[in-house]
Amino acid sequence: MALTECDDVRVRREQALTACCLAVAAETDAGLESVRRAAMLMDCLGVLRAAHLSGRVVQLGMREFRRGLHGPLAQLLPPPGDVDDRFGGLRLLDDAGLVRDALEDLCREHLVPQAALDRHWSWARVRAEQEERRLYEVMRRLEPEEYRQARALLAECPAGPLRTLRKRWDRLWMRFDFFEAVSDWPWCQLEGWWYPCPKCRWPMRVVETGQEVEVRCEAHRARGVHYRLSLERGGHGVAPILLGTGRASEPVVGLPASVDHLALSRPVWRYGVLPTLLEIELRDRLKGQAHVQVEMWPGEPRPDEYDLRITVAVPGRPNRTWRVDAKDWASADALAKALLEREPTRYALYIVLPDHQAHEVAYLNTRLTGRRTKVLTLTRLVEQVKRAARETR
Ligand SMILES: [Zn+2]
Repeated sequence: MALTECDDVRVRREQALTACCLAVAAETDAGLESVRRAAMLMDCLGVLRAAHLSGRVVQLGMREFRRGLHGPLAQLLPPPGDVDDRFGGLRLLDDAGLVRDALEDLCREHLVPQAALDRHWSWARVRAEQEERRLYEVMRRLEPEEYRQARALLAECPAGPLRTLRKRWDRLWMRFDFFEAVSDWPWCQLEGWWYPCPKCRWPMRVVETGQEVEVRCEAHRARGVHYRLSLERGGHGVAPILLGTGRASEPVVGLPASVDHLALSRPVWRYGVLPTLLEIELRDRLKGQAHVQVEMWPGEPRPDEYDLRITVAVPGRPNRTWRVDAKDWASADALAKALLEREPTRYALYIVLPDHQAHEVAYLNTRLTGRRTKVLTLTRLVEQVKRAARETR
């Protein structure tokens, strides 16, 4: 019993510590938009309050929270009880208000495992946001040419044998430390093998229900990427054979789920790989279209502001431009919230969703009323651009 209680305190203190680290990172990032910074600080404070079961900090205000970040953390963390984690004496900022070097390490080392999430649901969002933010930080530091290269690699090489990945990512390999060993992910393993999705090349999920085994891509199942285990066995040392059961189930071959097979972390797949694939699809569907020009990742004014610029240009007529950002979020509500947290743009921004999320479009546009942001599916945008190119003929 005493052990459980101790573990609980430990988990809550780790959550509180990470919330503080994240808050300091947000506070000291000069490049962060003020609206976004305020939202992140609110989230961190929420997590910190939840980590305290009772006591003073539950009523802690934003001003005291921000002030507390400058001192030893003991005043912000839940009481240690019998836990000796030495967090109390930690300072995240030095006397000049500068971030300590190890802040990011500290953050990552104390990430709380998934199992501890159910009681502190808001934590899940912070954790995903942290990884998404790290991706954004790495991308933002790349030169324009490297940025384009990284985007292409996200789409082409999100998982595989270490040797192959290292070769393909080449100069970017050391800077792009978002890969994890597939052997650490039991959810995608079938008898020691994993299967890359034919669309996104990331590990597919293995779901066993009674006698049935289904293997499917979480993002592309709706587009017909799912399989079942064949009764025919592959033999010793050979991956079990999968039979396609969907309209996009191209043949796949299993790879060993060993320590030297890696895949991009889940948040990077979700917020990096999937939108990149959408953007590439959009470009490909407009290829060869008269009067239509598509620029990928134009990097204006910042590479991350929007990802695609489509121009319909016909001599003698004013040009029409679409600035496009692709999104492939699991939750429309979370996406709406994230879009509302963005600083309003000076231009009209088009948010493109995969076609299977057509039912979310109206909801999102309602939530975004008053913003210069329009949500539509990929196919609708392709139609709109083609129509514009025809009209100006
Ligand atoms: Zn996929």
